[in-house]
Amino acid sequence: MGEETSTIRCPHCGAQIERERPEQEQPLAGSPLRKCPDCGRIYFDDAYAEAALTAFETAEVKFPYIKILYALVPTAGAAVYLRQHLLTPTTGSLVPLIAFSAIAILFDVMLICELVKAARRGRRRKDFLDRLEGRAGEAEPGLRESLERLSKKDYLDALVKCGEYVPVYFYKRIGEKPPKK
Ligand SMILES: [Zn+2]
Repeated sequence: MGEETSTIRCPHCGAQIERERPEQEQPLAGSPLRKCPDCGRIYFDDAYAEAALTAFETAEVKFPYIKILYALVPTAGAAVYLRQHLLTPTTGSLVPLIAFSAIAILFDVMLICELVKAARRGRRRKDFLDRLEGRAGEAEPGLRESLERLSKKDYLDALVKCGEYVPVYFYKRIGEKPPKK
């Protein structure tokens, strides 16, 4: 198998630029801000992705807010019917109590699983950030170079200008503020 390439044009001078063809959903490693070999100006190539940005995104932890809501509704329902049943015990109040309790238990168990998973992801994220920042041994070479580039405010600003998502974390760690929108 020969190396596949694709061609794009420099938006400034129109020179043809050959680059490796990225596999599906697998961006090329390196800065998406490329230097045109012809005119030397900087252009944006979205086939490339900053490794540290990509890794940061995949390590991001989402708190299960919506699942808390899902669990809250049947739990509140069960509590309401439990109170009613304790005040005036009838068979009529027992049926919705059992139904709401069954659903509440199901959703509460699901919620507990989600919270345990979120906590585990949180620990993994901390480990990841420690590796990224070199607090726990050396980061992998690609990641280290990526972070080096991402340690300059001008570079972060340029990425933002090109429409890249740059988490506030990368500004904070160099003591800077993200540009105002
Ligand atoms: Zn050019």
